Amino acid sequence: MSDGRLFDVPAPWPAAALWLGPPGWPASADAAGPPAHVHRDPDAALDALRAAVADDHRLTRLLIIHQDAFAGSDGGGRLTNWLAGAGALRAPLLPVLLHGDLPAAQLVEFFRAGLFDALAVPVSRADWVNMLIRAEKQLQRRDHGRLLLETSGHTRETLRRLRQELGEPGESPAELLRARDSLEAANRQLSDAMAELSLLYRFGRELSAASNWDEVLREILRSLTGFVGAGGAALVLRAAAGGTYSPRQTWQWNEGSWDKVLVNLQDQVDAAVAESILAPGIFRLEPGQTAGRAAGQRLIALPLEHQEVRLGYLLLLFVSPEAREAVSRRYLPFLQAVRLVLAEEIAGAQHSDRVREVGAFNARVLQTVSSAIWVTDELGQTVYCNRAGQEMLTGTAVEDTSPDDALFRVGRGRALAALPAAAAGLPELFLDARLALSAADGPPLTRLRGAPDGAWQGEGEIRRDDGVGIPVQLQTSFMPGRQPGEQWLVVVAEDLRPARRLEAERLRTGSLQALVEMSATLAHEIRNPLAGLSAQAELLAAQLPDGDPRGRYLDVITREVERINGTITRMLNYVRPYEPALAPCDLWEIARDALELAGPHAREAGVALALEAPGESTAASACWLEADSGQLGQVLLNLLLNGVDAAPRGGRVTVALAREARCDLPDPRSGGHRRGPGVVVEVRDDGPGFRDGDAARLFQPFFTTKSSGTGLGLSLCRKVVSAHGGGIAAARRGDQTVFRLTLPAGATAGTRPLQEEAT
Ligand code: ADP
Repeated sequence: MSDGRLFDVPAPWPAAALWLGPPGWPASADAAGPPAHVHRDPDAALDALRAAVADDHRLTRLLIIHQDAFAGSDGGGRLTNWLAGAGALRAPLLPVLLHGDLPAAQLVEFFRAGLFDALAVPVSRADWVNMLIRAEKQLQRRDHGRLLLETSGHTRETLRRLRQELGEPGESPAELLRARDSLEAANRQLSDAMAELSLLYRFGRELSAASNWDEVLREILRSLTGFVGAGGAALVLRAAAGGTYSPRQTWQWNEGSWDKVLVNLQDQVDAAVAESILAPGIFRLEPGQTAGRAAGQRLIALPLEHQEVRLGYLLLLFVSPEAREAVSRRYLPFLQAVRLVLAEEIAGAQHSDRVREVGAFNARVLQTVSSAIWVTDELGQTVYCNRAGQEMLTGTAVEDTSPDDALFRVGRGRALAALPAAAAGLPELFLDARLALSAADGPPLTRLRGAPDGAWQGEGEIRRDDGVGIPVQLQTSFMPGRQPGEQWLVVVAEDLRPARRLEAERLRTGSLQALVEMSATLAHEIRNPLAGLSAQAELLAAQLPDGDPRGRYLDVITREVERINGTITRMLNYVRPYEPALAPCDLWEIARDALELAGPHAREAGVALALEAPGESTAASACWLEADSGQLGQVLLNLLLNGVDAAPRGGRVTVALAREARCDLPDPRSGGHRRGPGVVVEVRDDGPGFRDGDAARLFQPFFTTKSSGTGLGLSLCRKVVSAHGGGIAAARRGDQTVFRLTLPAGATAGTRPLQEEAT
């Protein structure tokens, strides 16, 4: 760079200037003589300036700097530092740099550090004079400002106070000037502090109001980078305590390898390596001489901590160690404040994220529990009602609600618009008088809120939209409301119907168990002597001569013994546990076989039999299903024989088969009913039917109205059908008695098995 002539400085040379450059410079043909203040060493020049400032402003204001005074690869950084050092003197100094066309970005750095002007060499005379004029104007402006300050009453008063504080009574212009300069310096500090404060305030405000957190973080990194003159910035956070760190947001971050940075953070910051500490909470990091752009870049790391938990780091990237040192000298207190604000806001945000997550989790859980839950405010208005609660009130299934749909409808009446659509039409538990307590007088709300801590347990009834009353077990308690001191009432209601059904079932199984034991004993007690009896009868018969009329008595004995045996077999069948042997079968065929078997009995009784089915033949039948064909055949036969017994002579018994897509089937889970694809079998007869009171008893074992009946047929039918997951019921329809069977039809229903199709 140092072609001496390039750096020639045209005339005129200002008298009050300090020169900083290599030996032999400045030199100019036009120059009147060598300048008074020439320095070769930047540190010496700064010392000279310091002395001049201390010495009553006998000061050369123009500092003319030769680029080579800061030679070498780190020259830029050193110049930045030097300028910052000169600026720190708080004196009216105007540094001018003569340079060999430095890049604009580099110059901007220098201006930021306090450079007044930069002139590319060779410097034309016109440029030089222009610079001198600008410098003169600048100095004039300062003097003018100083005059204004001095004439203002406020300033005089300040100066007076300053003088008093300094214990200097004099009013010499020099003293006035010094006082004014310290005032100006104080002002500058104040305005710097204001700028820092307003930035901090902005960070805090934007973070706490952030809806798009990442955008705000990026904006903060951007402002911060610009403000402190860093090259880039990054925020490294970890999702949870103990989790791993990862970059959450960056700005102009050219550091190549995050791994390296994170390892360095671990090594130098967490271990609090003494040399790395710039100030409490601020560390300098050497990311190592990695290849490429990262080389030479340096970091400042600010660990973000909240309640002794490390949340992450704010990292500032600098182009050189010098730039970093300059910044750290100037902005350490500010960075410490930034660190606190960021940590506080991030901790707050993470906390509210967690609260939100927990809230969503709770809402989801509440939506899925089977207990109905309401939260009501002090007036009894519903604040929250979960899915089971909605279903209990409306009697219809609520499908796929998002937790928000049922969530806190705070301020109903005050902010109706805020109501989620699903909750808008929902009846009020208390205000619409949908809840009645079993053993309590007065309005339920008063009764429940009157209980100590709102804690009440007991039975009640919830009235559904369709008027049906649902017996419920209730449990209530208070919870804190939105407003301080406000108490909301939590009502948890358990539908008692399934429990009651189960209880009935349990009783039935209990009596069944007794029946099993009794039957086994009976079978044992009766069958043995019966076996003896029939053997004796057969012996006797063998001994009787042919045609002996006493043979008829022996026939009666044998028949009766068989009948009793049959009854015992059926009774045992009824009480024995039964598991159907399922296989694809065609109900049409089963029905046809049963009709055939019932044929002789029907002919004897003068009753006609008929089969109605969707198809005439097996091929066209829509009644394929997975079933125990033998047992289903017995069921149909039993129903047919009962029908023939009931029908008058000349009457008719019909078996009708049909497939239904929405068949009413028992739901073993809820104990109620469900709709699903199924096969329906009806056995209808035109007999007189049964007495109203008997309808419920028909399927009970041993209920019979026939002199020779066992009363076990229908109970066996029900057992077989139930084991198939189906249902059976009897009803009168017009002039007919109808036994209706529903059987669930799975995937195989309605289509014939493939191998059948193939044949
Ligand atoms: P059983 O036929 O041995 O009496 P079931 O259990 O088959 O036993 O029938 C129980 C009772 O149900 C019968 O005695 C009869 O009173 C009544 N019942 C059955 N089927 C019919 C029907 N089709 N019409 C009128 N009553 C019937």
